[in-house]
Amino acid sequence: MTFDSEKFKQQFPIFKHAENAKLIYLDNAATTQRPQCVIDAMVDFYSRFNANTHRSSHRLARAATSMVESVRGQTSQFLNTRNTDEIIFTRGATEALNLVASSLCQTLRAGDEIILSSAEHHANLVPWQMAAKQHDLLLKFLPSINGEPQLSELKTLLSPRTKVVALSAASNALGFRLAVEGVKPVLPKACRLVVDASQRLAHDVIDVQSIDCDFLVGSVHKFYGPTGIGVLYGRLDALADLPPWQGGGEMIEQVRLHDSDYAAAPHRFEAGTSSLAAIAGLGACLTFLQTQDRAAMATYESHLNRYLHTELEALSLTLPIDLLTHLENNVGIAAIVGREGSNVSVVDMAHWLDEHDIAVRVGHHCAQPLMDQLGGSSLRISLAAYNNRADIDALISALKLLPIEPTAKTPIESSAHNFGDDLSAIELHELSNQTSWQKRYRQLTRWASLLSRKPDIRNQQHRVTGCESEVWIAHRSDGNRHFFAIDTDSRVLQGLSVLILLLLDGKTREQFDAVDVESTFVELGLEKYLSESRSNGFRALVDYMAAQNR
Ligand code: PMP
Repeated sequence: MTFDSEKFKQQFPIFKHAENAKLIYLDNAATTQRPQCVIDAMVDFYSRFNANTHRSSHRLARAATSMVESVRGQTSQFLNTRNTDEIIFTRGATEALNLVASSLCQTLRAGDEIILSSAEHHANLVPWQMAAKQHDLLLKFLPSINGEPQLSELKTLLSPRTKVVALSAASNALGFRLAVEGVKPVLPKACRLVVDASQRLAHDVIDVQSIDCDFLVGSVHKFYGPTGIGVLYGRLDALADLPPWQGGGEMIEQVRLHDSDYAAAPHRFEAGTSSLAAIAGLGACLTFLQTQDRAAMATYESHLNRYLHTELEALSLTLPIDLLTHLENNVGIAAIVGREGSNVSVVDMAHWLDEHDIAVRVGHHCAQPLMDQLGGSSLRISLAAYNNRADIDALISALKLLPIEPTAKTPIESSAHNFGDDLSAIELHELSNQTSWQKRYRQLTRWASLLSRKPDIRNQQHRVTGCESEVWIAHRSDGNRHFFAIDTDSRVLQGLSVLILLLLDGKTREQFDAVDVESTFVELGLEKYLSESRSNGFRALVDYMAAQNR
């Protein structure tokens, strides 16, 4: 068998929709698209045999129950578990990790130790923090180099009190795989190994027996399945020691008024009604994956990833960007940042790409401790098997067209009357006269050059929360007028800030309140900056300014 990416892509209806004719989807680490068979299976469940499971003896309930148990069996095969009862369905990988952290830590004693890495997704960090606080446990972190945890150092962290090691098998921010397969043999006997395989399952065949882990979690929507469903593998003996997490229907044997007897695994961990349609979708997804040549698929993806990294490396010779990721052992994720001292911001790049209908993601990718070590925010490009070289060519071509106006940033000059920047030469029609979004975008980046760099206000006191980019605003009142100074790394947000300052700076509170910023944005053809995700920056700015002059 071989792998034909074009044929594979044909299975995904999203790419056939007229509105998506130009869509290039490179945000697969956040979620993949779903093939028609997965969608059909969910519709089929609702339209043909929707019923609640396990609770009733009628025909539909039997059909639903048998579907769930059959998908459990498929999942068990998919992960090569020894026993079907080792598979627990959750609402996602986050819920699975909360379950394990919460239940496992109940069995520990104060002072016991948990080892994590600083590259973990928040889903494999925050639940352990919460449990550690509750049970007085100690969190330890593997040392890292350039963000990559050094497994070779694990032994130096181990102690007789080490009871849990929880690690991602691949980083969602930087794409590197971690050799979790070699961990179990070095751990103390009582120590549980928890593996977050969320970013591996779309790309690699995962075998829990050869990894030799106690628990493994996966996020189904990241390997072409539905949202609302995650899988948790727990080795039978590890599950046997685990108290339940949530209480409710399905997870009990006997309920009395003051206490209950709990069911055995897996049902002890599946309180309430599961995401039944999503489980049906998972079943179809596993059948779909089974019909692929996974080895050929992996080879295809690794060639594509090489092409992506090579092209981005080449681009970094002409565009002031740096590549944070490397190809070695990478699941198909590239991350770039604007070069130190350049005026290229990743938020601007992501907006520019969005204008070309190229979906990428910018931010800390729910791995904030990791990204804080690497500059805070990156633009992430993540591949799936339906991507191809043409997608990467389109990405690179769009990035080559990114308008980069030279910066003319000068240090802040404070004066009694001009607290921020002199914007008196600006005319609004410079923007409203532009005839396309590309031209308006360029105009905004030209205006951006008028905003001076203000190192003095780049601190926590002046930081505006709720923006995709870092933004700092200082406020001063003079009599009853309010003046603002704004600084940000995003060129587009700098341009928008110029506009906001034109509208709101130096006004009395009454004048400020009378300005309809949103309508002005619409009149100037900037309505897309009001839309859901982008509005964060703009609205946070205006709200922050309004709060200052109250
Ligand atoms: N772990 C990792 C490594 C992830 O990438 C993600 C999702 N970004 C999660 C956990 C959480 O997965 P879910 O959306 O299924 O809760």
